[in-house]
Amino acid sequence: MSLFCDVALAVPLDMVFTYAVPPGMEPVVGGRVLVPFRQQRMSGIVVELHDRPPQVKTKKVIEALDLSPVLDEHLLKLGKWIADYYLAPMGEVFRTMLPLSAEFKRSVAYRITDQGRLALHLAGMSGSPARSKRTPEQQLVEFRVLDHLAEREGVREERLRGATRVGKALLAGMVRKKWIVREDVSAARDAARMVKMAVLLGAEASPPLDGPEARPHTGSAKTLNANQQTLIETLAASGGRLPVEALRGLDVPRTTLGTLVRRGLIKLVDEPQDFTTSKLKPRQSPFEFEFSAAQKEALAKIGEAVGSRKFAGLLLHGITGSGKTAVYLACMRQVLEQGRSSILLVPEIGLTPAVAADLHQVFGDEVAILHSGLSDAERAEQWHRIRRGEARVVAGTRSAVFAPVSDLALIIVDEEQDSSYKQEETPRYHARDVAVMRAKMAAAVVVLGSATPSLESYYNAKKNKYALVELPDRVEMRPLPEVEIIDMRQEFQETGQEQVISRKLAEEIRERLEKKEQVMVLLNRRGYSPVVLCRACGKTLQCKNCAVSMTHHKRERKMECHYCGHVERIPDKCAHCGSEYVYFVGTGSEKLEELLHGLFPQARIGRLDRDTVRGREDFEHALNALNEGALDMLVGTQMIAKGHDIHGVTLVGVVGADMALGLPDFRAAERTFQLLTQVAGRAGRGQSPGKVVLQTYFQDHYAVQFAARHDFAGFYEKELQFRAWMHYPPYSAIANVLIRSEKLDDALTWSGELGRWFEKTRHEGIRVLGPAAAPITRLKRDYRYHFILKSPSREKMNALLRAMLAEAAARKIPRTQVIVDVDAVWLM
Ligand SMILES: [Zn+2]
Ligand SMILES: [Zn+2]
Repeated sequence: MSLFCDVALAVPLDMVFTYAVPPGMEPVVGGRVLVPFRQQRMSGIVVELHDRPPQVKTKKVIEALDLSPVLDEHLLKLGKWIADYYLAPMGEVFRTMLPLSAEFKRSVAYRITDQGRLALHLAGMSGSPARSKRTPEQQLVEFRVLDHLAEREGVREERLRGATRVGKALLAGMVRKKWIVREDVSAARDAARMVKMAVLLGAEASPPLDGPEARPHTGSAKTLNANQQTLIETLAASGGRLPVEALRGLDVPRTTLGTLVRRGLIKLVDEPQDFTTSKLKPRQSPFEFEFSAAQKEALAKIGEAVGSRKFAGLLLHGITGSGKTAVYLACMRQVLEQGRSSILLVPEIGLTPAVAADLHQVFGDEVAILHSGLSDAERAEQWHRIRRGEARVVAGTRSAVFAPVSDLALIIVDEEQDSSYKQEETPRYHARDVAVMRAKMAAAVVVLGSATPSLESYYNAKKNKYALVELPDRVEMRPLPEVEIIDMRQEFQETGQEQVISRKLAEEIRERLEKKEQVMVLLNRRGYSPVVLCRACGKTLQCKNCAVSMTHHKRERKMECHYCGHVERIPDKCAHCGSEYVYFVGTGSEKLEELLHGLFPQARIGRLDRDTVRGREDFEHALNALNEGALDMLVGTQMIAKGHDIHGVTLVGVVGADMALGLPDFRAAERTFQLLTQVAGRAGRGQSPGKVVLQTYFQDHYAVQFAARHDFAGFYEKELQFRAWMHYPPYSAIANVLIRSEKLDDALTWSGELGRWFEKTRHEGIRVLGPAAAPITRLKRDYRYHFILKSPSREKMNALLRAMLAEAAARKIPRTQVIVDVDAVWLM
């Protein structure tokens, strides 16, 4: 038994905390403990048990919350790697990995064991258990506890202590003697949605070859009484499992079930209500894929890698519409058939209803889907299902990479280039890179899939770090859509006014609508107008918290900041000079929808952006409407560009997708190329060929040109030259260090101090740029200054960052005001 434990607490400090373990308490590494921290009680994860007395006086652990680790060895190691690689406090990493906040108010229940029953039996006969160190009084309490538990299925600690007046130490002693067991009862499992199921043991696993006689439960059938027989037959007739409630309807005493459980013929399990009914249905899995030669080859390569039980990384580069999803599902099914686990990661809003439906069709109840619409309690419930091994297929967004599956064989990262895989708060991890590391640690296979791989991943594939697997054709050899570029500067010259929808695009839309075909129009900016400008003084309406223009939202009659959410009334005069000449400038998706309604009054138009989509249901609703032909046109932001397979869309109009090219961000070209390729890929996925009309103010830009030609390789070569020249990834590791404060003085002083420290510190092979005002100089009330670090050596860069954090701590700069973003994807 160890005297001390080191605990990682979710506080913004780069350290673990040592606590003394009171005698009799047995915390486990990877399990949670409740400890005093400053003036409160906090739960944290035990990272080490040891006997090394610390320098300072330690406080005691209040309670060990878990009997077995909530983070197994692999996940614990992964968490430590994340803390180290991204310079994040370990406790905050663990908090992110465990979706168990709903259980903070968790409780503990006790159950009697067979040994406990024996002890109770002996005590009942002789009046006292043999050779006990306990006082007679204590023995009496122990007897009361055993007696209380013998009649019940798991009793809450509070209730047990109330009923028997047993103390904590005595309970712990009884657990050590294995008379009783202590179980965590999560809040999620308390929810009314959990159902207790009776499962016939042997019925599930019995080999059909041997016939019914060989089943374990019938082996002992001779000794069953009539009531027991009835219960078992009822269960067997229902496929081996029924809710306990349903058995209560039988004309047998309630104790019969308990007896059968004790004899090991039936087990009781908690199941979420949603899944109990479908379990009764026979599994249908004839979800048949018809594969092209390229798909078969991809499947074979992935299958072979999985079979080798060694780490392997594969980059699946498949053009839009080439059938990547079918390959994913088939691979995951193979893995499941081998009794192993797989995880599918999808971008934030990429999990379309179609994919979810396919997952359910292929995997039935074996799949756990973790999406952003889940409540904390539901998320915890899914976590427990996965951990119990009931769901061995997991699909979800970013944090699903931490799913506690056992025997992990395969992780698939769909649309691996998507920026939503990067968490924009501490810990600032990139789920794709964490997936690669997790696969490495588990000797599993990671597949990165994309139509437009990130420069980094494609570079890694070219350098043979990943095997490159290509799906070069669309399914059924459908052609890629033709792309026509419209130069909007020329359009302006010819029409004499700023146009939102070019004459060519309007004409093409009219044509499709007449043919009853469907249209998508992308404008990657929500709201009605992005800028309110005063013609008298030239000033714009800025957010009071951010150095950013407020956006006009016409239907909701408000001005909104898209960065902090601050809302104001629509101004009728200038806030600076009082002039009434205020103008709403520019177009967002809301105005685009209105303009299209004006041009095509007969068309049924839907809009998909963060204003119309409040939850996943709205999203599914709009896509279903398009799929079922209830809409003629769908307008929206990049939400419409991602992975939807809508067969009726033959025209995609791009009204604004190149705004990013004007931003000071080295990834702007890559992002624009990806977005244009993605949205173009929505056209012509059915029988009719597709067309894309791409309006742009940057028609000569290589991102636009290569996207129009569907030329990923060409774009990649050109962009790589730029990255090499500018020392950007993949040639250099990059980190953004942001110094922020609500007080301008503090932000200036701190960034100045750290700037001087960087200057006089030796850092060979690392470029440090800054301090400079961040492109968005004020955000959510904070003034922002930043440094950018670039280095070919990640080790050196992280060592310097660590030294910088130590310096900042020594200078009493609060840790929360110094943000270190390793592999930053967003430098604004
Ligand atoms: Zn003004
Ligand atoms: Zn704001």
